[in-house]
Amino acid sequence: MISRTQRRMTNQRLIILEELWNMKTHPTADELYAAVRQRMPRISLGTVYRNLQTLAVDGKIRMLKDSGRMRFDSSLHDHYHVRCLSCGRVDDMPESAVKGLRENMSEKTDYRIVGFRVEFVGICPDCGNLGKEVAIEEETLNDFKILEDDTE
Ligand SMILES: [Zn+2]
Ligand SMILES: [Zn+2]
Repeated sequence: MISRTQRRMTNQRLIILEELWNMKTHPTADELYAAVRQRMPRISLGTVYRNLQTLAVDGKIRMLKDSGRMRFDSSLHDHYHVRCLSCGRVDDMPESAVKGLRENMSEKTDYRIVGFRVEFVGICPDCGNLGKEVAIEEETLNDFKILEDDTE
């Protein structure tokens, strides 16, 4: 019986992990499947998904459960995200943009801060540059405090 920590890294799983490392957009299983299939044409979406779950359970990747559809992150260090409301891609916020946020929280509240979940939302450069009408669903508007819209 192979224990959790000693689980063998299969070639399949390694390729999935490599492709995830290469993608900075925190892909969904579907998106990752499309990339992995270039290298392993016979792999199925189900296999990719199962391997992603295993990698997450083993702590090698993270699942982003709150970003609409389930997305996957290969960065294990603490960081913040910004999500595009149009295409759904998720990028890491530059460290400099959020510098001191955690420290400030500890200083300015009586809570002992033990973790965080912060997500900024917006329109990514790709979607913005397409010049297309970007519609944000009303449901989404209720979910977030939307900053002033200067597109109108
Ligand atoms: Zn976008
Ligand atoms: Zn990330």
